[in-house]
Amino acid sequence: MHFDLIVVGSGIAGLSTALAAAPRRVALITRGELARDGASRWAQGGIAAALGPGDSPAVHASDTLAAGNGLNDAAAVEVLTRGAAEAVEWLSANGAAFDRNAQGFLLGREAAHSQHRIVHANGDATGAAVMQALAVTGRTAAHLQIFEQHAVVALRRAGERICGVVAQGAQDFVELDAAAVVLATGGIGALYRHTTNPEAADASGLALALEAGAALSDMEFVQFHPTALRTRDGRSGQLPLLTEALRGAGAVLLNGAGKRFMRLHAREAELAPRDVVARGVWAELERGETVWLDASTAVGADFPQRFPTVFAACMAEGLDPRREAIPVVPAQHYHMGGVRVDAAAQSSVPGLYAVGEVACSGVHGANRLASNSLLEGLVFGRALGRRLAAQLPPAATVAATVATAPPADDCAQVSAAISQAVRDLLWREVGLVRDASGLRQALAALDTLARSAGTLAERRRIAVAVQITAAALHRHNSVGAHYRRDAVQARAG
Ligand SMILES: Cc1cc2nc3c(=O)[nH]c(=O)nc-3n(C[C@H](O)[C@H](O)[C@H](O)COP(=O)(O)OP(=O)(O)OC[C@H]3O[C@@H](n4cnc5c(N)ncnc54)[C@H](O)[C@@H]3O)c2cc1C
Repeated sequence: MHFDLIVVGSGIAGLSTALAAAPRRVALITRGELARDGASRWAQGGIAAALGPGDSPAVHASDTLAAGNGLNDAAAVEVLTRGAAEAVEWLSANGAAFDRNAQGFLLGREAAHSQHRIVHANGDATGAAVMQALAVTGRTAAHLQIFEQHAVVALRRAGERICGVVAQGAQDFVELDAAAVVLATGGIGALYRHTTNPEAADASGLALALEAGAALSDMEFVQFHPTALRTRDGRSGQLPLLTEALRGAGAVLLNGAGKRFMRLHAREAELAPRDVVARGVWAELERGETVWLDASTAVGADFPQRFPTVFAACMAEGLDPRREAIPVVPAQHYHMGGVRVDAAAQSSVPGLYAVGEVACSGVHGANRLASNSLLEGLVFGRALGRRLAAQLPPAATVAATVATAPPADDCAQVSAAISQAVRDLLWREVGLVRDASGLRQALAALDTLARSAGTLAERRRIAVAVQITAAALHRHNSVGAHYRRDAVQARAG
């Protein structure tokens, strides 16, 4: 099948790209159900946009650079923050019903933002509202052909150029060709024991790019959210997120003795940047303490209206957050690193583009500012779709392609044992706090694991884990989300 463009992934980045590429013929391939199978629909807090009095894209940019520890690409930050207002208007026009009052959008505040600038929907259900609206737009867009329940398991090449994909459905493999392929495959949560991400965030897009020879960047910058709900069953995998907006609303972190501890770590206490708060929580847990988020005073009876998603998750665990503190654990949340792309979202391999969480444009630096991620997918996705629509040659001119990996039934399968081994290893040694000895041990363990891997998907997952670990070992200093407990010694050596 021939298309002008292939987009892999139907989160905010994939859908934004695919919709903006009209009227070119676009194949949109997604592993599960359109707009529901990625992280986007789980987003709670909202979308950052400088819409309030006294705010401006320049102030938003300066907060983004501060959170990113100055390692951000300043030009990308400018594009992001300047594009925010228009992106929010576009979503509204496409049916996303953001919370408003008579003056306009209701603007929330989140950690490390100097202003109230978080646009949200249904309180803490922003992702669900936005993705529902985009799904409706996507399903009625005549230029899109949507392939649901299909996982891309190989890229296709014509010479050096990526010109297609092989996707595996329940019964079949399909081969699609196009003038360009956009990876919008999201994050890496499935590589960590605790994560806020759904299972689809399995780094398979990163692995495909790596296999195709694309450069990856900033792989060590993995963001951990300070407050996931510690469930009674202590399970691995996706945990319910307790949005940062709760701390923005005044909720406080307590240890088992009922004492606030974040002031010991940062002047801004609970509103310090995410990495600082996450390490504060981790330090308490390392001391054998339990950690709790108490919103009973700050939010109290308003909880069900203001934070319906979190309220439902707590009640499902038998907790009433109007009256009780909520047990928390940090969890892997976002990957700042990814497929290295330039200002045009082009990877180092011709024909292969990346956008959204799978990409590394440098916009987030060493640490993403809260609520800048949906925005990134929107702003960079729409710009990429428009650009490709204007520039791409017609699909008919695409040369014959060959797959980068042979389609085989094991392309998408990872055994529970390998999956858990990777999750436990990365959580322990490549988590919130790292050191050279643990990182070296992790590399050795991954090498052993790779030898026992039976399927292509297992080898690919381990290959991405190796990239993250090796990058963490390579960066000796602590910066942003990458914290080396041996930084002083490492610098000396
Ligand atoms: C619980 C939670 C709350 C969050 N809250 C916020 C927030 O309030 N504000 C904010 O800005 N950010 C938030 N984030 C982060 C943000 O949601 C994500 O970073 C963002 O949605 C990523 O969008 P994306 O389009 O890049 O990827 P995703 O939305 O994850 O989409 C990836 C897509 O790729 C598909 N895919 C993956 N691999 C393949 C394959 N091999 N073949 C076919 N399809 C594939 C998936 O099925 C999916 O459709 C939150 C994240 C989580 C998990």
